[in-house]
Amino acid sequence: MSNAPRLLIKNGTLIDGSGRDPIMNTLIAVEGNRITHVGPADAAMRPQTPDDTVINATGKFILPGLIDAHCHISLHQGAVPGVRYTSSAEFCALWAARSIGRVLRAGVTSIAVPGGKWFTDVTVREAVDGGLLEGPRMVVGGRALTNYGGIFDPDPYPAYQGTPDDAAGVLCNTRDAFITETRKQCKRGVDLIKIADSTWGDVQTVADDEIAAVVDEAHRHNVKVVIHSRGSTSTRAAAKAGVDLIYHADLASEEDLDIVAKAGMPIAPVLTSPWIGVEHGAAARGFGDRVRDRLRAQLDTSFQMIRNARDRGIPVLSGSDTGNASAFSHGRWHGKEAELFVKEIGMMPMEAIVANTSGNAAIVNLAGEVGMITPGQLADIVIWDNDPLADITVLQRPNEISAIIKDGKIIDRDAAGFPLLSEEPGRARFAI
Ligand SMILES: [Zn+2]
Repeated sequence: MSNAPRLLIKNGTLIDGSGRDPIMNTLIAVEGNRITHVGPADAAMRPQTPDDTVINATGKFILPGLIDAHCHISLHQGAVPGVRYTSSAEFCALWAARSIGRVLRAGVTSIAVPGGKWFTDVTVREAVDGGLLEGPRMVVGGRALTNYGGIFDPDPYPAYQGTPDDAAGVLCNTRDAFITETRKQCKRGVDLIKIADSTWGDVQTVADDEIAAVVDEAHRHNVKVVIHSRGSTSTRAAAKAGVDLIYHADLASEEDLDIVAKAGMPIAPVLTSPWIGVEHGAAARGFGDRVRDRLRAQLDTSFQMIRNARDRGIPVLSGSDTGNASAFSHGRWHGKEAELFVKEIGMMPMEAIVANTSGNAAIVNLAGEVGMITPGQLADIVIWDNDPLADITVLQRPNEISAIIKDGKIIDRDAAGFPLLSEEPGRARFAI
């Protein structure tokens, strides 16, 4: 038996991320970066020593760290006063280093990053893994693979000229170009490839055989493929090609969903993104009524599609699209999707919590390792002051967190450079 100091969390209500009913917990023990014990102390446990760190969680709620399946880090910097080139590789790296601390301090201990600028997100992941930066566990993509008319192809100019080097999308207009870009990104060390179909899903911009070619190439490199697919035919093609995750899928028909269910991949509807556009679009993004109406319609279609997907047993993942634009502040919206799942889809709060914890573990390549508080799992734990089963919006209030533990370490939330998130909830920081 090791004598290394432990982290002991005593008392508190445990919501362990498995979907099991909450229980009054007497003791969670963490040794190194793993959870080693959950439940009453037993004879096999060595007694508490003065070297152990003890957290008294009486009256509090102990959950696994949240997992956000759709969180951009380097995608958008906006206009920052005094910075001439916010989109340079150098500034993107600084921006990303600052942003990931805010994500972690919102109780989010793992994220999937579906697309960004340069190879900034790969570098930031390496810096976090190497202990240079404090941040969530990250699985990251590079630039999104898009062809003319895709959501990452700037519209209208310079669409026919090619994407600039600092764009978050890279033009691939032939099957060979899709394969070449996939190989290039795999060589640099991405964890996933992001394919980008059309913005609204009204047309399918990426051909069936292009999607299939990317899946074949990426999977041979043990890299996942995710797709922005709102349309009916693109969702069907993505399912048949065997992508690992479909984002949005709001225009998928019941027949399309039958194909998705048979193929076995999850859908992440990303309701938070259009919700922010509807609620905050005018102020933060300068959206006109026409765009807002379209987003409202997208939301309504998404709600019904997700109910249809659940009827078929399709796993529903939770992602916020944080970092997509200035209104999507890092640290602010990660818990919003859970609220929309409950209030608009009709999930029980426990199901929404599972979607934001163990349900998202596979997409961050950590199934069985994170997302639950059980012996053997990595110690990513958040202790909340209030009960998210009674009020799911608790998960949107980092100022109601009393402790964040990632990889067995308590995060110092007052550390220099990372002001507490409660100082800037939801403010649209920059106009775009
Ligand atoms: Zn996105």
